[in-house]
Amino acid sequence: MNIVSIYREFPTEKSCIARLEAVKWKGVPACPYCKSTKATAMPKEERYHCNTCNTTYSVTVGTIFHNTKLDLQKWFLGVALMLNAKKGLSARQLARDLEVNKNTAWFMAMRIRKAMLDSGELLRGIVEMDETYVGGKPRKGGRPGKRGRGTKKVPVVGMVQRDGKVIAKVSPILTSKRLMSLVRRNVDKGESILITDEFKGYSKANSNVLRHLTINHSVSYAQGAIHTNTIEGFWALLKRGIIGQYHKVSLSYLQKYVDEFAFRYNNRKNDEIFNLTLINALGA
Ligand SMILES: [Zn+2]
Repeated sequence: MNIVSIYREFPTEKSCIARLEAVKWKGVPACPYCKSTKATAMPKEERYHCNTCNTTYSVTVGTIFHNTKLDLQKWFLGVALMLNAKKGLSARQLARDLEVNKNTAWFMAMRIRKAMLDSGELLRGIVEMDETYVGGKPRKGGRPGKRGRGTKKVPVVGMVQRDGKVIAKVSPILTSKRLMSLVRRNVDKGESILITDEFKGYSKANSNVLRHLTINHSVSYAQGAIHTNTIEGFWALLKRGIIGQYHKVSLSYLQKYVDEFAFRYNNRKNDEIFNLTLINALGA
């Protein structure tokens, strides 16, 4: 998927609507208000009249594309630009690329992030778990390069399956209880081995949750397969993106940005990522 191919495939509003209708309805329009499929097309308006509840609707009702004055082509290009931006895309850059104002670009990006959803699949096999700290500045007087634990930055906890997907959650508290509940919810316990560093928050994993191996980073960063390099690679991507593009990520939005980076990471080999995003966007 590249920008030019999206531009060529969707040259008009009509072509965008046709794709959305195909994805959402698979040929049979359904009323978003009463679910009835008894509809009369209103081709001129690109809408349908519901013969059951007498309202009219279009395919974008109830989706991220609803109630905006923006052309769907700009939405589609915006989706493509965000999916392609490995290091993230600032609202300012999106505004320039799409010739919209910065507020519009910010609003579009926030809506598009809503369609960058996790598949819900559990992680299995070798799963690395680690935390990182983003946003804000290190505590005053803190030594440069100080580890995040104990600073005022916001912790993000991540779990990644080797050669698989990542799940990352903003987590202002890092108690053992919280960390283990994240493992229980996201990792297939029966079939997995958890690898972490020696942070004490993870120390209960072995006895209570699943097989657990640790790497002592003061000694070395890898002993054969025992390392957390995969999750650290994801953190590097996330942090470069957040520092480079999203200068002031407020805590309330941080999870959305983390989800955006995770979605791109998890679909890095998925040729259907654009369609998947449309499916998510339409709730189809
Ligand atoms: Zn209806």
